[in-house]
Parts: sequence; structure tokens; C-alpha cells
Amino acid sequence: MNYTELAPQYVRDIAPYQPGKPIPELARELGLDPADIVKLASNENPLGASPKAIAAMHEAIASIALYPDGNGYELKSALSQRYEVNLANVVLGNGSNDVLELVAHAFLSPGDKAVFSDHAFAVYPLATQAVGATGVSVAAKNYGHDLNAMLAAAIEHQPKVVFIANPNNPTGTYFGEIELMGFLRALPQNILVVLDEAYNEYLSDEFRFDSVRYLKDFPNLIISRTFSKAYGLAGLRVGYAIAHEQVVDMLNRVRQPFNVNSVAQAAAVAALQDKEFVRQTYLLNQQGMEQITAGLRAMGLSFIPSFGNFVSFKVAGAAHIFRRLLELGVIVRPVANYAMPDFLRVSIGTEQENAKFLSALEQAIGESK
Ligand SMILES: *Cc1c(COP(=O)(O)O)cnc(C)c1O
Repeated sequence: MNYTELAPQYVRDIAPYQPGKPIPELARELGLDPADIVKLASNENPLGASPKAIAAMHEAIASIALYPDGNGYELKSALSQRYEVNLANVVLGNGSNDVLELVAHAFLSPGDKAVFSDHAFAVYPLATQAVGATGVSVAAKNYGHDLNAMLAAAIEHQPKVVFIANPNNPTGTYFGEIELMGFLRALPQNILVVLDEAYNEYLSDEFRFDSVRYLKDFPNLIISRTFSKAYGLAGLRVGYAIAHEQVVDMLNRVRQPFNVNSVAQAAAVAALQDKEFVRQTYLLNQQGMEQITAGLRAMGLSFIPSFGNFVSFKVAGAAHIFRRLLELGVIVRPVANYAMPDFLRVSIGTEQENAKFLSALEQAIGESK
């Protein structure tokens, strides 16, 4: 018996998501001291988490024997106040990855289509394929989303869902409010638009805009955000979406009743209030982005200008450089699975982590000449 044959063909065809290599795994493989390893592979927050969130987690542990609030009342209340929407417009996810999957489960089935961009976040094609729907990937423009081409593809293919990331991972590309408005105005409102803003907090004031207020005019919009990046809670798994209440209703029907654990809910409430931590995170990222891009320029390497907390750069023999960096105790992310085999993606770390990455990269390149 070959049990894989029991799974639908579309499940067997899934190419598994490739996560950043965990520090303990590399330490085991190479016999390195975990303390000597720098992980700049998953766009995590180098400052850790807000001390307020950590205190809230300790407190929440006292009630760990109880099931979490399946309605997520406290967290949804905090989010609805922050964004001035109703509780019925908010859905919580086990990471925003969960939210993306909820959208696929609720709205896509075999025969349906979803549109996304080339080089867009890998979870869009994965979530689409996992429910047997068909993904339509649209050519990118300078590695960024070509919203005009995506609009044309949506009109041609009539998908149920369009996924867009702003900024996008792994390219770091960004589109502005005017472009988004033009796209939403021209798109038929029977097509849902997932606007994935996982990196929203890293945008400067000049570029950040309040997408939530577009829900009034564009009820087909689903805005997804996460506590994994700027809030530093990646290990807890908590994200959310803001959308029309009918959309939220459908997402809730396919959601696990207790998809967000109690410690995560408590931490997220506290993290949301700690604006100073998010500001420090933003400032450190700005400085680190300058440090890393200056270092890449100094080595003569080109990179895609990034609006997130990571940058993808082009380097000859990227796969080899990736492995050499591992041996030197620096974990970055290969992006060959994003059809970018000549690039590596590095997350912005602390000043010391960035410096270690740059000197390891310089060494790896020097050796391979
Ligand atoms: C990291 C990331 C997410 C979500 O991560 P979660 O930890 O599941 O919240 C979503 N979208 C993009 C583009 C990301 O890079």
C-alpha cells in the first residue's frame, strides 16, 4: 500500500514550505555553539518581544489548564479599538499564515482560482493548492507586484481571491496608496482581495497608509496583519484579519475553535499597547537596513530596495554562498523556490549581527573567487 495515493493529487503535488533553518539544527549539524550562530533567515525581531508582552505571558501561564477564549474577546476588542472597526470585522489566526489558509478554506474549492504575483509570499500558492484550487501567478515588474497586470489577470480568470503583499516578502517591494486605490476601484467586488500587511509597521510615515478605512468602500478587502514581525512574537503564532462581517463569519466557520492559544492572546493584547517597543523596532530596522545595504554596496552587490525588515541581494553562486555562510555561523534564506536562484534574503538584525553577516559574506565571496 502506498499511502500517499490516498491523498488527492493536488495534495501530493504540494512542494512543502521551506522555513529558515533553526539555530539548534545548524548547531547540531556543524557542531557549533548555538551562541555563536546568527539567524537572519525568518524576518524575526532582533529585539525579541516587548517586556510587557513577556510579563503578560507569565501571568497567562497561571491559567494554562483552561481552554483559551475561542472568541478571542480581549484581543479582538483591543484590535477593534485600535482600528475603529466592530468586533465582527476581526478574525484571529494562529499566525497570519492561518488567516491566509482560512481564506482558502472558506472561499476556494477545486475549480476555483486565486491570483497572486510571481515572487510573492509562498503561502499564497500553498494555501491555494492545499484546497485543490488553481493558482494564477502573474509576472512581476522589477520584482514587485504589477497591479495592472494582476487586474487584467483577475478580469480574465475571474478568481475568487487575489492575494497581494505590501510590502512583499521576499522581495521587499511596496506599492503606494494611489496604486492600490486604482486597483480596488477597477476590480469587480465579487473578487476578494487579501492585502497582506505583515510588514506594515516597518514602513516610514511617508509610506504607511491606513488601509483599514478602505473597507467601507471596498467590502471585498481582507486586511491581514501579524504579531510575528515587528511585535516580536513569531514563536507564539498570532495574527489577524480585518474584513467585512460576512467574510469574517465565513472565516470563523472554518477556523479551529481554539486556534489562538491563551498565552498568545494575552501577549498580543499587551504587545499592541507597547507602542514604544514597536518604535524602537522600527528605528533599529532603519539603522540596520542602512548598515546592511551600505555593506552590500561596498561589496559591489546589487539588491532589491526593501520596505521590510529584510533585503534580497544578488550574489554569484548564491546556493554555495548560502552554505558557506552556514559554516561561518550565519543563517540567511535561499530564495530559489521563489524563482530567484541568484538571490539570498537576509533579515535585518542588531548592529553586531549585521556586522557578523557582512564580514562572513565578504569572506565567503572572497574564497569563491
Ligand atoms: C511572515 C509573513 C507572514 C506571516 O507570518 P505569521 O507568522 O504566520 O503571522 C505573512 N505574510 C508575509 C508576507 C510574511 O512575510
